[in-house]
Amino acid sequence: MRIEPKIEQIREWLRQPRDIVILSHRNPDGDALGSCLAMRSFLEQMGQSVKVCLPSEYPVNFEWMAGAKDILVYDIHPEECKQVIERSNLVICCDFNSLDRIDKMGELIQLHSDAPSLLIDHHIDPEPFADEVFSDPMASSTCELIVELIEMMGEEDRLNRDVAEACYTGLVTDTGRFKHALTPKVFEIAAKLLRAGVRDQMIIDKIFNSNSEKQLRLLGYALYERLEVLEDYDTAIISLTKEDYKRFSISRGDTEGIVNYMLTMPHIRLAAFITEQPTITKYSLRSKGDLSVQEMARKHFNGGGHKNASGGAARKPLQKAIDDFKKVLPEYTKRSIL
Ligand code: 5GP
Ligand code: MN
Repeated sequence: MRIEPKIEQIREWLRQPRDIVILSHRNPDGDALGSCLAMRSFLEQMGQSVKVCLPSEYPVNFEWMAGAKDILVYDIHPEECKQVIERSNLVICCDFNSLDRIDKMGELIQLHSDAPSLLIDHHIDPEPFADEVFSDPMASSTCELIVELIEMMGEEDRLNRDVAEACYTGLVTDTGRFKHALTPKVFEIAAKLLRAGVRDQMIIDKIFNSNSEKQLRLLGYALYERLEVLEDYDTAIISLTKEDYKRFSISRGDTEGIVNYMLTMPHIRLAAFITEQPTITKYSLRSKGDLSVQEMARKHFNGGGHKNASGGAARKPLQKAIDDFKKVLPEYTKRSIL
């Protein structure tokens, strides 16, 4: 269900200069970064003082984005993030729907509840932690909603190249390069952003044509050695062990996109990328059609996301995590229709 923001209230908050903190989720993706940095560039033009704080580091292929270098990462600078949050008198949350997605910073903003807060997001069922909410699960990306918000505020003139490129980044990544979550609005907004001067080829090169040899070899290994196809369940799994992480010296961002290859097999409707992290096992889930990995992630894997793209985590060894995933398959793959 779409929740409309009260534009008058937002305008009122922005009437005087404020210390604004913008937050997004752990393991930030293109839409998380795009929405935060677009809001930052937009609000700075309005004379606001803005800081972006993220729970964990962002992939290096987003370093080119305007304002990326000024992002504070809680994992690295917890004290600074704490001070920024405590000092702020407006909190803006982008691209997440529950406070546990921002780890410790979730507790900090709850303690700091005298500052007004605005949530802009496209995940279903946002938790009621913000004073104002702009939410639309039908939107391709949070960045799409940022463009809409700027328009609703009558501030299109501030849609400069920095704002537009940040928004385009969220659009292009959350739609898988304009392959899913598409509506006429996505293309209308993309057209608007291109007119605002977006360097689309540069963005594609920076984000997608930036693989190292190591990453390609890891992809080859994952597909050749680690792929398991469960024909009876129209499901495919790729898992990576701690040893794999060492062998390929995998760092943040290196495994991005591997999960999607499994869905390129026509009969595969459910794909799981399951990885052994230092303290947890992480699930990255994708599906086609009516099969909801959001429901699956929420119910069984302590996570959530979107109908066709979700994630979760478990505190159990990799093999147990894979076995538990297989156990829930009959519940999901039998009843859904493509
Ligand atoms: P990815 O598989 O690319 O990490 O994430 C896909 C989608 O699932 C994203 O929209 C992300 O917000 C969501 N997601 C990933 N991991 C988690 C998680 O641990 N908890 C929740 N609630 N959502 C997640
Ligand atoms: Mn998003």
